Amino acid sequence: MGLLLSTFVQINSIPMQKVEESIKEYLIENIRTIPDFPKPGIQFKDITTLLADKKALQLTSFMLTEPWLEKQVDYIVGLESRGFLFGTNMAQDLNAGFIPVRKPGKLPSDTISETYALEYGEDSLELHSDAFKEGAKVVIHDDLIATGGSASAATRLVERLGGEVIGYSFIMELSFLKGRDSLSKTAPVESIIIL
Ligand code: AMP
Repeated sequence: MGLLLSTFVQINSIPMQKVEESIKEYLIENIRTIPDFPKPGIQFKDITTLLADKKALQLTSFMLTEPWLEKQVDYIVGLESRGFLFGTNMAQDLNAGFIPVRKPGKLPSDTISETYALEYGEDSLELHSDAFKEGAKVVIHDDLIATGGSASAATRLVERLGGEVIGYSFIMELSFLKGRDSLSKTAPVESIIIL
């Protein structure tokens, strides 16, 4: 789909920027905001509506993969659970492997763990301790970046195993929470939709 769309755009000399803008508009139309979920004050960005729309599903996949096509990516590391939905597909399109980062107690073999702060309290994420070999180049992916706490914890997990985080990939970014500031200053942060 990604390559087909790129070829169509090139043959017809359509400015890629225009195409990307209309794709983004279409995706925004297909994301639903649920007020006060899971608790009062949170505007929850629901992507189940985007997943159910076959055009939005393909276009999201294309837009997520596109920034990394020319990079050498060994693994997409997807964050539980919505980072699994497009993460495996991205990995296939990039000829890379997929590695899940999960909530505590979900991974069956030996794990390493990192804790991060939530609005109230804290949470942890885990990674299999043999998930990849030292030196692997990794892109961390999730559906949305808010404060960046979970992506930062995932970065620490990858780096503890000797991996190199070469970038971050999100469908959406809540820019007012400045999550990207907490991520590596050397690795690019790619979000399709900046809210
Ligand atoms: P953070 O660690 O603060 O960047 O939060 C990102 C994680 O929390 C992602 O896994 C998101 O799916 C989820 N999340 C945080 N805020 C929202 C929101 N407003 N709508 C949907 N998911 C959210």
